[in-house]
Amino acid sequence: MRENHLPYATQWIEEDDIDTVVDVLRGAYLTTGPTIEAFERAVAECVGAPYAVAFSSGTAALHAAMLAAGIGPGDEVITTPMTFAATSNAVLYAGGVPVFADIRPDTYNIDVADVERKITPRTKALLPVDYTGQPADLGPLRELADQHRLILIEDAAHALGATYRGQRVGSIADMTIFSFHPVKHITTGEGGMVTTHHEDLAERLRLIRSHGIVRDPAKWHEHEGPWYYEMHDLGYNYRMTDIQAALGLSQLKKLDRFIALRKKYADMYNATFADNDALIVPYQSPDGSSSWHLYVLRLRLEALSITRREIYEALIRENIGVHVHYIPVYWHPYYAGLGYRRGLCPEAERHYKAIITLPLFPKMTERDVGDVIDAVERIVRWGKR
Ligand SMILES: *Cc1c(COP(=O)(O)O)cnc(C)c1O
Repeated sequence: MRENHLPYATQWIEEDDIDTVVDVLRGAYLTTGPTIEAFERAVAECVGAPYAVAFSSGTAALHAAMLAAGIGPGDEVITTPMTFAATSNAVLYAGGVPVFADIRPDTYNIDVADVERKITPRTKALLPVDYTGQPADLGPLRELADQHRLILIEDAAHALGATYRGQRVGSIADMTIFSFHPVKHITTGEGGMVTTHHEDLAERLRLIRSHGIVRDPAKWHEHEGPWYYEMHDLGYNYRMTDIQAALGLSQLKKLDRFIALRKKYADMYNATFADNDALIVPYQSPDGSSSWHLYVLRLRLEALSITRREIYEALIRENIGVHVHYIPVYWHPYYAGLGYRRGLCPEAERHYKAIITLPLFPKMTERDVGDVIDAVERIVRWGKR
């Protein structure tokens, strides 16, 4: 058994990351300076999108994307329940109505056929999530969005560096949201980004990020003097700092290395668990290439005499940091209070009951992976029918 606790995810900060941040701390701009623009350009280039707008968090980026898309009271946005609550919360912030479509039984991404069934005259946007880093069915979703004149907004908080049919995530949907929380592929402490190929959306996102204040004199209603500026919309302070952007710039250079390590460790898990008839390894669609944010192992509960909870607790006792991604969002009491009922998305609920997230992060070692494999195999062997 391991002597020290292995987390399910954590950041990897190296000396060069620290030096980059310190340089900004010694400079003139802590916020709204040139490092923000440099980080935005670097992310835009990395994902193949012409525009990128940085935010104080992925959640702020999601909220801003909803507002930029014009989501307002009564507008329906179709999303998945197999996600972090921030996804559908953003719809609620804007006054919209999250409509949950069920997931596919193989990739656990949103099921396009169910999305189609849930479209109504009030539907305004589709909000898929690239669950665990595997891109959602962006081709069929794009077709559906075009057919019904909907905006396609992709929550790619798990999928920086992933590709769909050879195209990079971040260059496909109308707006794509990334998060730089420490458990994600690269970190800025807290932080987020929206990428888009629409110039008008990028401009609206920048307005929303900073109080709705317009700096371009050509767009002003009046011009009172050199101190003058105008506020045209009710925006927010959702700005990222240059301190965070510096960390992001430095981290972004390591993205390929980080993803290669994530893939290597996921392959090690897959190679062992694929032969175990009590376990279901994550199916990978040939349409996409995952950037492996999470390794979600599914249990074949009917082949086991012990529960998911017993396996989970046994792994914790072995110092293996496990987690569950996710509790179906509409199960939360807040959503129940809004009228969402259990049973709404049976496939997502079945999935939730049988999953355990295993540690997966670039800073772990092959030995750590071996410890996880050893503990899982032992506990499952003991719990088999
Ligand atoms: C992490 C995450 C978010 C929120 O990002 P923050 O930067 O933590 O605000 C949103 N959606 C999903 C799917 C996430 O995993």
